[in-house]
Amino acid sequence: MSFMVEKKIVLIVADGMGDRLIPKLGNKTPLEVANKPVMDELARLGITGIMDVVGVGVPPGSAPANLALLGYDPYKYYTGRGAFEALGLGLDLMPGDVAFRANFATVDNNLHVLDRRAGRSLVEGDILAEAVSKIKVESASDVSIIFKRGVEHRGVLVLRGSCLSKDVSDIDPEREGVKINLSKPLLDTPEARKTAEILNEFTLKSFEVLSNHPVNISRVARGEKPANIVLCRGAGTMPNVEKFTDRYKLCGVCIAGIPLIKGVARAIGLDVLNVDGATGGLDSDFMAKANVAIKSASNYDFIFIHVKAPDTASHDGLIDEKIEVIERIDKMVGRILDGLSGYELYLAITADHCTPVLLREHSGDPVPVLIYGPNIVNDDVNSYSERTCMKGGLGRIRGLDLLPILINYACKAAKFGE
Ligand code: ZN
Ligand code: ZN
Repeated sequence: MSFMVEKKIVLIVADGMGDRLIPKLGNKTPLEVANKPVMDELARLGITGIMDVVGVGVPPGSAPANLALLGYDPYKYYTGRGAFEALGLGLDLMPGDVAFRANFATVDNNLHVLDRRAGRSLVEGDILAEAVSKIKVESASDVSIIFKRGVEHRGVLVLRGSCLSKDVSDIDPEREGVKINLSKPLLDTPEARKTAEILNEFTLKSFEVLSNHPVNISRVARGEKPANIVLCRGAGTMPNVEKFTDRYKLCGVCIAGIPLIKGVARAIGLDVLNVDGATGGLDSDFMAKANVAIKSASNYDFIFIHVKAPDTASHDGLIDEKIEVIERIDKMVGRILDGLSGYELYLAITADHCTPVLLREHSGDPVPVLIYGPNIVNDDVNSYSERTCMKGGLGRIRGLDLLPILINYACKAAKFGE
């Protein structure tokens, strides 16, 4: 009887891990300074390169970037952030639904924004979310309101009904001290006009309902900011995609801490596993993620692991924390390698984009990528960084190329022609 070792493909995406030279680090990047023996060893044994995740010189958002890394053209399938956030919070979107990201915020009586986050920690959020869910729109009796709370002041709004459109402008002005925007149709269609009208009615009603809500009356009495309005932005619809399993003939799973990435995974039909302690913040438990990944291998042959923390540290301008997070990711990779040693493992490590700490924003610089697997012809690169990977054997690839390259190395690619 022959014994076949099962193949597993693992893709680890460290959000915003790529960076630029930092004078304070002696003109090195956080990846270059971090002590990361595991990733360096994988780079030595494997093949490396740099990658334009969405396009050359395009600073991408995380949703389109991760779509590309999972083999889906973001210019075709990125249908607005609200949809991915809603899916990530566990809502099942139907064709025709329009979803928005939503914030509980504080406005004055003239609808000027005093605090976009209503003080941020909103312990009474669930009660307020329930009140918002009961809002009925009068301008369209066939449209219903679905509201779900996320963490802190965040949530999602879904409009469900006939003839709706995602082509409407945002209510949330995304800054404070100015009046909220009224939504406008971005296309001259009845659907866009109807959706903007409903969204405006919902917003004003949320102000009415929340201003008079006992929770907010108590908050004001205690000297706290009332969460007296819901501000929406980022309209989106469910993308119409061929599911991952059908497209790549792989049974796939996603392990991620933040709703946006869970939503991207759900949109393409990956199963999503929740991990206790995976918060998306700097305190996120990477080892718990590794353990869930190892366990999932008995059910799945493609495991996608997303770690948000390097991006969080970068947006906050925290150099030392970014280095420390990279070192913890290295330990997570080590745990995954140990835990999956019984399989024939093909593993890729990359970032969805660079978030240079000094910029505190995403950039369009290419990201370093490494692929490790048995008998892959390796290159001369022996550490993993933005600089070393420039000399790697993969050269400069596109984000959409990564998954096909991985699948080919794992000998799971379909043959073209005779
Ligand atoms: Zn990202
Ligand atoms: Zn970011």
